[in-house]
Amino acid sequence: MTNQIVFATNNANKVAEIKNVLGGQFEVISLKDAGIEIDIPEPYDTLEENARTKSTTIFELTSKDCFSEDTGLFVDALNGAPGVKSARYAGEQATNQDNIQKLLLQLNGIENRTARFRTVISLMQNGTEQQFEGICEGIILPAPIGEKGFGYDALFIPNGSSKSFAQMETEEKNLYSHRKKAVKKLIDFLNR
Ligand code: IMP
Repeated sequence: MTNQIVFATNNANKVAEIKNVLGGQFEVISLKDAGIEIDIPEPYDTLEENARTKSTTIFELTSKDCFSEDTGLFVDALNGAPGVKSARYAGEQATNQDNIQKLLLQLNGIENRTARFRTVISLMQNGTEQQFEGICEGIILPAPIGEKGFGYDALFIPNGSSKSFAQMETEEKNLYSHRKKAVKKLIDFLNR
């Protein structure tokens, strides 16, 4: 029987990326699949605390093993901004486009474009928490390229590629992705 695990997210892109990594090994149940409608706030200054709040909240609601993840884009020339606040960089109601425009404005005229995506996964299993980290280094483009993906994908070229994440199918993004690296550690832990 396939093991079921709840993924505490409302982001369909993240669910698709993680299902692509997990294959048939685990059955990932999204919040939508589980019939849970909840928007869990991310009020903290670290990915670790935000991820923990999400997994703990869903574990308390479902009593099922579950995991959550929190991701940020950390740009060196901006002292790590947008970082933990990546989703709300251009304001509480900001769209991906608003965030992209703000990032480009902040980097206008700046030569150093190095940045990294960092993901922290929080797993709640039998009421105990474990965390797993994944990092992807790369550079920020001067203008968006590509139509696929989500968030800041169109601005980010991972080291080792000449394409932005938004020019890649999920499988190709997963060759480089921060989220994939964190999920790989999660799988190794679950299979231990
Ligand atoms: P959160 O983890 O959902 O809080 O995401 C924080 C912000 O980073 C949001 O604006 C997302 O769209 C963006 N983001 C998260 N993961 C990725 C990714 O893999 N590529 C591009 N943007 C991402």
